[in-house]
Amino acid sequence: MPKPDAIIVGAGPAGLASAMAMRAAGIEVAVFEKADSVGSVWRRHYDRLHLHTDRKHSGLPGMAMPPTYPVYPSRLQVVEYLESYAARFDVRPVFNTAVSSIRRNGSQWCAHTAQGPIRAPVAVVATGIADAPYRPSWPGSEAYRNPVIHSSEYRNPVPFAGKRVLVVGFGNSGGEIALDLANAGVDVALAVRGPVQILPRDLLGFPILAWAILYRPLPARLVDFINAPILRLAVGSIEKLGLRRAAKGPRQMADEDGRVPLIDIGTLDKIRDGSIKIRGGIDRLTPEGVVFADATKEEFGAIILATGFRPDLRRLVPDVDGVFDSHGMPQVTGRASSAPGLYFCGQITSPTGQLREIGLEARRIAEISKGYIATLGH
Ligand SMILES: Cc1cc2nc3c(=O)[nH]c(=O)nc-3n(C[C@H](O)[C@H](O)[C@H](O)COP(=O)(O)OP(=O)(O)OC[C@H]3O[C@@H](n4cnc5c(N)ncnc54)[C@H](O)[C@@H]3O)c2cc1C
Repeated sequence: MPKPDAIIVGAGPAGLASAMAMRAAGIEVAVFEKADSVGSVWRRHYDRLHLHTDRKHSGLPGMAMPPTYPVYPSRLQVVEYLESYAARFDVRPVFNTAVSSIRRNGSQWCAHTAQGPIRAPVAVVATGIADAPYRPSWPGSEAYRNPVIHSSEYRNPVPFAGKRVLVVGFGNSGGEIALDLANAGVDVALAVRGPVQILPRDLLGFPILAWAILYRPLPARLVDFINAPILRLAVGSIEKLGLRRAAKGPRQMADEDGRVPLIDIGTLDKIRDGSIKIRGGIDRLTPEGVVFADATKEEFGAIILATGFRPDLRRLVPDVDGVFDSHGMPQVTGRASSAPGLYFCGQITSPTGQLREIGLEARRIAEISKGYIATLGH
């Protein structure tokens, strides 16, 4: 391999978009992917998953998603798109090659792999969040006798037939997995600890993301104020369903807390007709089930933790100052970090669509790193 200008770690959407944008800017890249194919995380998401963001706003730089795809493409179409994207721009990741750490060495970054070290003045971390499923535990967790899985391990309702299942968490994965189980006739409850925000997937005939992008320049509080009446009409009363509406509006919640509201694709209807039961937070587990915060007790044959992901990138990039927050998340993504030549792509949740944001970040990283490489006289 010729000596690269940039090392890119990960060949998911962020790694591929960064590779494409950097090569278009004349930067020689080497992409390392620990799996054996591009888009490996999308290959193992649950079967029924479709994008919640529309096709027109989910394509990566330089290549729109095909117009033959539906408005909300399926998981397999996303995989197909990522394969075509890599082929079209001739991005050839080095597969089956995990980067164990990236360390500064003079003016270079050194990525350590089982095949040996690789050096370049620029390193882009595009490792996503999928490796860090967050699995909370409660008093009694060790005594619970039935399966507990994380949403990232869920594929379809088949293993849950005939069981009572508790899904924990009211994010997009929790809402959709509960819906998937309810559609298959599984007896399912959804544990919702705190107040929530819910958005319809389409509003007045347009994808909700199109509205979010339109309103992006306006302050979050103003946007939430303008939208509140129409969203109440579109979503209906959630209080009657046992849910509490968050004091912060959807945009403020996303901007300030990094929490994406639930984009409803049918979960609310299933809550309304009683196929999905709403429960509160969990106080503790028993060998057969759960005691909720209101002291009610129920038995469950399986628990699915739709409790998100908590990556800590300090293990991958040790020995850097001021780059990470106290949880090990980068302070900035898609811009210059406080370490020269080190960039992160796609790690921060965006209210205007993560894939769209990845594309914007990749272009910015290409532009900034080109300038940076020029200052080094490469
Ligand atoms: C269930 C789900 C649904 C989503 N739906 C949408 C949606 O509808 N619209 C939207 O805009 N966004 C959505 N997202 C968010 C986001 O767009 C996706 O998670 C997207 O795949 C992120 O791309 P990425 O490249 O950052 O990470 P990933 O797709 O996770 O790719 C990271 C890659 O890095 C590799 N890797 C990790 N560590 C290393 C290492 N040390 N060495 C080498 N390789 C490594 C991994 O194997 C992986 O292939 C969704 C996310 C989830 C979890």
